Amino acid sequence: MPSLLYNRKASAALASLGAGGRLPHAILLEGPAGSGKHVAAAIIAQYALCTASEKPCGHCAGCMKVEKRIHPDVRYYGVPEGKKEFPIDLVREIRQDAYIAPNEGVCKLYILEQAHAMNAAAQNALLKSIEEPPAHARFVLLCENRSMLLPTILSRVTAIELEVPSVEQCAQALGTLASEASEEERQAAAAGAGGNIGRALALLGSAKPSKAAADARHLREMLVFGDRYQALKLLAAYDKDRQGLLDLLPLLQEGFAQAALARYRPSGGQEERMTNRLTCEQAICAAEAAAQAAEQARRNVSIPLLCACMVERIKAAVGG
Ligand SMILES: [Zn+2]
Repeated sequence: MPSLLYNRKASAALASLGAGGRLPHAILLEGPAGSGKHVAAAIIAQYALCTASEKPCGHCAGCMKVEKRIHPDVRYYGVPEGKKEFPIDLVREIRQDAYIAPNEGVCKLYILEQAHAMNAAAQNALLKSIEEPPAHARFVLLCENRSMLLPTILSRVTAIELEVPSVEQCAQALGTLASEASEEERQAAAAGAGGNIGRALALLGSAKPSKAAADARHLREMLVFGDRYQALKLLAAYDKDRQGLLDLLPLLQEGFAQAALARYRPSGGQEERMTNRLTCEQAICAAEAAAQAAEQARRNVSIPLLCACMVERIKAAVGG
């Protein structure tokens, strides 16, 4: 179950949100990168969708689906890959969707990442939903700095502030989150990441090749040299593992991006076969297809569907 191990103030604020039995319609989570906004958003979603009497229990079907990011009533929206702003079109999409009843929970949650990247028009469009929300809709806005939001939005949200943990708090949290690492590794990662737990976990992960990294490498091989059925078979293991897929797809994208760059500065070695096989343009198209799939995975698009589309696009791009 996710928890804000280090952030007592925010944990208390979150607990009091659920205490009345009804969540506010709009909640703002404010804090710098690495302060745990996504973890806090997941806790809120669990409060809202937990089916046990003691919420959030962390192990009912609702809680588990939220944690794996596969709950059909939790939608994630953010700045699309390669864009700088949170598009107004997305806000309109959210507004329309909010009038559709939940699929299986008692309410529907819209988690808006980088809400500070909405321009005034987008914020005004969102305001209408926050002012008169459909009864079952809840909005969770994530932002780094509330001064970038309109006062009209701020006056209608319940704000919770999150702080980046200290290096010691980070190392302590890693004791639970990365118990397989040694004490020294955890201390070094916490210091290297300046207390940012997400970054520290990434640092620890980079020391040892992860399953996602291994699968990304195999998948890239299959997509370029093998057939689509092998690739789809590998991806089928992720049908019920959205978080795993969210770890895998950026690595696949990065692999293709590296292959594109390598056309300009050949480094030889084991990547040579890949570089010789792909033109720069083919590698870029493949990287873009992986990026788009990652974006769809974040937005709760059906996993088999987004995987099939990505495989077709990459096969078409690389000519297989
Ligand atoms: Zn539960």
